[in-house]
Amino acid sequence: MEAAEFRRRGKEMVDLIADYLENIEQRPVYPDVEPGYLRSLIPEEAPEEPDTYEDVVKDIERVIMPGVTHWHSPYFYAYFPTANSFPAMLADMLSGAIGCIGFSWAASPACTELETVMMDWLGKMLKLPEDFIAGTHGQGGGVIQGTASEATLVALLAARSRAVRMILASDPQRPETGITSKLVAYSSDQAHCSVERAGMIAGVRMKKIPTEQSDKYAVQGETLRRMIQEDKAAGLIPFYFCATLGTTPSCAFDHITELGPICNAEKIWMHIDAAYAGSSFICPEFRPLLNGIEFADSFNFNPHKWLLVNFDCSTMWVRKRSDLIGAFKMDPLYLKHDHQESGRYFYTDNSLFRSLKMWFVFRMYGLKGLQDYIRKGSNEVNETLLKRINNGRKIHLVPCQLSGQFVLRFAVCARTTESRHIREAWRLITQLAEEVMQELPH
Ligand SMILES: *Cc1c(COP(=O)(O)O)cnc(C)c1O
Repeated sequence: MEAAEFRRRGKEMVDLIADYLENIEQRPVYPDVEPGYLRSLIPEEAPEEPDTYEDVVKDIERVIMPGVTHWHSPYFYAYFPTANSFPAMLADMLSGAIGCIGFSWAASPACTELETVMMDWLGKMLKLPEDFIAGTHGQGGGVIQGTASEATLVALLAARSRAVRMILASDPQRPETGITSKLVAYSSDQAHCSVERAGMIAGVRMKKIPTEQSDKYAVQGETLRRMIQEDKAAGLIPFYFCATLGTTPSCAFDHITELGPICNAEKIWMHIDAAYAGSSFICPEFRPLLNGIEFADSFNFNPHKWLLVNFDCSTMWVRKRSDLIGAFKMDPLYLKHDHQESGRYFYTDNSLFRSLKMWFVFRMYGLKGLQDYIRKGSNEVNETLLKRINNGRKIHLVPCQLSGQFVLRFAVCARTTESRHIREAWRLITQLAEEVMQELPH
C-alpha cells in the first residue's frame, strides 16, 4: 500500500470505526458462536498471493464481528470497564506511525520524556505525595506498564530483590537461596488472581489474608499484624504486602492507613493495586479513599479501565526509582549513550509511545472533563429531580450537601410508615428520575 491509498483507506477506516461505535447498541452484546467458529470461516493457510484490501475489509463483518463480545456496548456489564475515547484512538494512530520503542532516553527522547511528564500530571491529579512525582526533589516517579497484573509482579520482584539485598547487607555469609525460600508475601483473599500468580512467577510464598463480610471484605490491620508475628516466629521473612483499593468481587478497600504503618515498621514493601477504582481518585470527594498512600512503596491503577485512555495503559508509581532500577538494571554496550545520567527515567522494559494517548486525552478533556466522566451526573440533575418530587406533593424530601454534591435524603420518619409506602415512594422517585434523565443532558 502506498501513501496515496493509505490516505483514502485511513479515512474509510475512521468512518468504519465511527459507524461501529455509533451503532454498537444494535449489535448483540454477547456473540452467538461455538468454540472453533472462526477456523471454518477462513483458509487453513495464509494466502500465497496478496489479497485485496476490499477483501480484507469485507471479512470484518463476515469473520470477526460475529465472534466479538462488544465491550463498548451500553449493554456490557461484565468484568470491568475498559477505556475507549476518540482522542486516545487518534493518538494510537500517531503512535503506530512513529513506532518508536523507548527503552532508553536516546531511543526516543520525546517518548521517554513525555511518559515521565504525563505520569507527573496524572500523579498530581491524584494528589499523590511529592515522593512519587519525578519532577520534584523526591526520589520516585511513574512508569507506564501494560497491565495491573504486570505492575503487581514488577513490584513483587523489586521487593524481593530489596529484601534479599537488605538481609545480605546484615549477614553476607547467608546463602541467597536460603533467603528466598523463607520469604513470605501477603494479599487479601479478595485480591485479584494476578496477585497470587505474581507469587507463583516470583517463586515466593503468597499468603491470603482472610477478610470478613462484617468488615466489608477489607483487610484489617490486626489480622495482618498477627500473621506477620506468627510467620516471623516460624522463621519466615515477611517482605511484601499487596493492598487492594477496590477489589474485583465487591470493590472493597483495604485499610491502608492502618496497614501502611505496620508494613513500614516491618520493612515490608506495600504495593497498592487500585486497578479499577483508582481513576475515581481524581475527584476530591473520592480522594480520601487513597489516604494512606503515603506509606506505600508502589501504587498502580489502570487509566485503561476508567479514564478514557485506550488499552494498554496501566500507570505505576514508586517512591524510590532506585528500587526498580536497581532490581532490573541491564547495561549492554548498545544501550549506552551520551546522556546516560541525564534523565530521571527508569524504563525497565520496552516502553511504547503510550504516553501520547494520555497527552491527547488529558488535554482534550481537561481535569474537569475527566472528573465529569467519573461522576457521570451533575448536581443539576439531582436538584431538578428533587423539585419534581416535591412539586408532585405525593411524597416529601429535603436535600443536603455532601462534599459539594447535592444529595437527596430519604428519611423514614412517621410511626405509620410501612414498607408498602416506601416501595410506592421508590417507584415514584425512579419514575421521575427517568423523566429527568431523558430531558436533561448528562
Ligand atoms: C482489573 C483488575 C486487575 C487486572 O488488571 P489488568 O490490567 O487486566 O492486569 C487487577 N486488580 C484489580 C483490583 C482489578 O480491578
